[in-house]
Amino acid sequence: MDTRVTPAAIAEGPGGHLPLVAHLSADVLVCGGGVAGAMAAVAAARGGASVILVERYGFLGGNATAGAVAQFNSWQTAAGRRVVAGLADEVVARLRARDAAGAHQTFVMSTGHVMDRVEYAPEALKLVLDEMVQGAGVQPLLHASLLAVHRQGRQITSVDVLVKGGVARIESRLLIDASGDIDALQRAGAEFLSLAEGEALQPATMMFRFGPIDFERFDAVTAEETAALAARGFAEGRLARAALHASRDPYSDDGWFNITRLAVDATDALALSRAEMEGRRQAWSAAQFLRDAVPGCERGQLRAFGTQVGVRETRRVAGDHILTAEELLQPVAFDDAIAAGAYPIDIHPAQGGGLIYQALGDDHAYQIPWRSLVPRGLDNALAVGRGVSATHKALAAIRVMTISMAVGQAAGTAAAQLARAKAGALDVRTADVAALRARLLADGACLG
Ligand SMILES: Cc1cc2nc3c(=O)[nH]c(=O)nc-3n(C[C@H](O)[C@H](O)[C@H](O)COP(=O)(O)OP(=O)(O)OC[C@H]3O[C@@H](n4cnc5c(N)ncnc54)[C@H](O)[C@@H]3O)c2cc1C
Repeated sequence: MDTRVTPAAIAEGPGGHLPLVAHLSADVLVCGGGVAGAMAAVAAARGGASVILVERYGFLGGNATAGAVAQFNSWQTAAGRRVVAGLADEVVARLRARDAAGAHQTFVMSTGHVMDRVEYAPEALKLVLDEMVQGAGVQPLLHASLLAVHRQGRQITSVDVLVKGGVARIESRLLIDASGDIDALQRAGAEFLSLAEGEALQPATMMFRFGPIDFERFDAVTAEETAALAARGFAEGRLARAALHASRDPYSDDGWFNITRLAVDATDALALSRAEMEGRRQAWSAAQFLRDAVPGCERGQLRAFGTQVGVRETRRVAGDHILTAEELLQPVAFDDAIAAGAYPIDIHPAQGGGLIYQALGDDHAYQIPWRSLVPRGLDNALAVGRGVSATHKALAAIRVMTISMAVGQAAGTAAAQLARAKAGALDVRTADVAALRARLLADGACLG
């Protein structure tokens, strides 16, 4: 594909100085290459669909790489029953082949609860996602930001993305919005869910890498001592969040720290700009506190910031089903379950230093229904990742990367099945959900 500017491109473009530099088409367009979008693209392509994956950065992963989150949380219930596998397991296996992910391990959270996780190196994840996407035959379109979405009635017909030379127009039979902020469906005029009275968007966090750390001493600090140190750092105004939560970089004696807190609506460009700068300020202050006060951190220095602040929550689409916290807590068994999870309800309040954390029972798992991926009012679109149709409180559980990958795999698998079954325009409500569930199980996924 050549997307350089030509005189003809300028003449055919949408106007002004935006020439149309490419006209592409595929069965499936995935908008956003975070972990949810990357898994959706891989699953759709492996299932036989032609797939274009659009991403605004020059690499994939979203929060998992640009945000440097650095640990995949909650693969199993506290009792050890697996709830996420499938493509997410393949990601970890490929990371391990590069010595870039640790073993499944349990750790104690700042709330005192026990959680399971896999720590990984964000830079290596970029390569792993490249490999998987390229191996599956996905056409990646990097450095491409969503510009406009065109629709006719309930069908999305094409999407314009801003690329270096101008605009690329992409026609697809199905759109999977994996942009986290669900920008494509927002441009398409979809309906979104509001926060309830008293709720606020979860804050963002600027992750930072700090080291070297003497982990023998750092890990020997008891949960009570850690809580007291964190409370002191918060009271002194040196930590924005009363936590010392870190994951270890598999390649070094560095840790990625998740201890800044930024109340921001990341869909507001000016507010996001302020948050990026405030996040770096908070991270620097936190790093000085670590050096001064935390055992094992005396020799450490701030070595890197996340490329961007990590964003926990922005838009949630209104879907055919709105998943609620009550359904997760009960848990409700859905006939159309396409993924499962066991991560607790974990709300970082926008203000203050603590966490609102609702633990689950020892063998408690919940399910995510297919209808929560299906946006109201549109026939050929799906939402995945942190923008699915769920209440604020339910999203606080299902937002994690393990579940985002599982939901992405389900959407991509469904997209391929739909595309194989029929030519022309597609309707996601005609999906054979029983066949989808059978395929997902055959591909190693867990459905709860
Ligand atoms: C600080 C923090 C800590 C967290 N801790 C954990 C943890 O310990 N364990 C865990 O499992 N989960 C954790 N999470 C949750 C998890 O990281 C996210 O919920 C998950 O990564 C969401 O994935 P996603 O693919 O839906 O969205 P995102 O990661 O947001 O990906 C969206 C992608 O779309 C691209 N994009 C966005 N807009 C556009 C556009 N207009 N045009 C083109 N491309 C676009 C972005 O660049 C990005 O690549 C944490 C999140 C944060 C922020």
